Amino acid sequence: MEAKVNIKNLNREELKGLTRRFGKEDYRAQQIIQWIYRHRVNSFQEMTNLSKELRELLERTTRMDSLLPAEVETSCDGSQKLLFPLEDHETIETVLIPDRDRLTLCVSTQVGCKFGCRFCLTGQKGFSRDLSTSEIVGQVLASQSFVRPMTLTNIVLMGMGEPLANLENAMKAMEIMGYNDGLRFSKRKITLSTVGLVPEIDRLGQIPRLCRLAISLNATDNVTRTSLMPINQEYPLEELLEACRRFPLAPRERITFEYVIMQGINDSDEDAKRLPTMLRGIRAKVNLIPYNESPSLPFRRPSEERILAFQQTLLKKNLTAIIRKSRGEDISAACGQLRGG
Ligand code: SF4
Repeated sequence: MEAKVNIKNLNREELKGLTRRFGKEDYRAQQIIQWIYRHRVNSFQEMTNLSKELRELLERTTRMDSLLPAEVETSCDGSQKLLFPLEDHETIETVLIPDRDRLTLCVSTQVGCKFGCRFCLTGQKGFSRDLSTSEIVGQVLASQSFVRPMTLTNIVLMGMGEPLANLENAMKAMEIMGYNDGLRFSKRKITLSTVGLVPEIDRLGQIPRLCRLAISLNATDNVTRTSLMPINQEYPLEELLEACRRFPLAPRERITFEYVIMQGINDSDEDAKRLPTMLRGIRAKVNLIPYNESPSLPFRRPSEERILAFQQTLLKKNLTAIIRKSRGEDISAACGQLRGG
């Protein structure tokens, strides 16, 4: 017997293909999208405007798996970390970050990560596998149900893994998150963060936009960046920044450069002076992320004064620079702290 297709791995076109195979009209695909992503049902029997025959056909040929959090940890700052078991007994983590009128969800795209950034606990754990489209969108569906009656406002693909290393599934997941008859996240509300995979950044720039782009930069020279992020050997700063220069942006859009600031590593006055020069010609803003210390890693967070001085140097050069408050540190949910249980 053929294995059942997970219906949540299918985008609109693929759903239309499925309903056509059953001899049904295209609008049935839209109805299925509404049931799964707007009404968030968990069974075909609840799709009451589909005929009994179509519901049975779907039941026989497809499955509809859902993620359920097995553990929830709540930080003293209000952020929450959800641990999701997957069907092969792997686990992933997803983080909810409330901030004034926003409720952001930080989503994982892989189990572990193969890029080994030295400052990141996920990177130390190694890589198991890519997440499927349904596992990426499933984190959003499960988290939305978890926070009800509140509503998620923003999605960031910045959890475990490198989204551009799982490009097909990540793109399809973002497409599904954007459906107007489903979860309705506009491309301005979804941000994908990458370690800097140049061919995949180009590829993302060539398709209709699904998200905003963020680059995990973290250094202003190749020697330091390579020591922190081995991928810099393959795609050094010059190549990465060229890819950013050719990335097509909407009129008021900017690329976010994330800069995890670490004492004695990348927090010098020289770094602060080099950064605006490096980013010249790119519509950019910088997120300064004070390093989240971990006992198993040797890096330290700079003093408050140092971070403020660094920010001032960028602002004086008319480069927007925001210091990001660290969230969820006490529950190991902050940037670079996710391990997957
Ligand atoms: S920072 Fe991102 S790309 Fe680097 S090891 Fe961690 S999860 Fe992977």
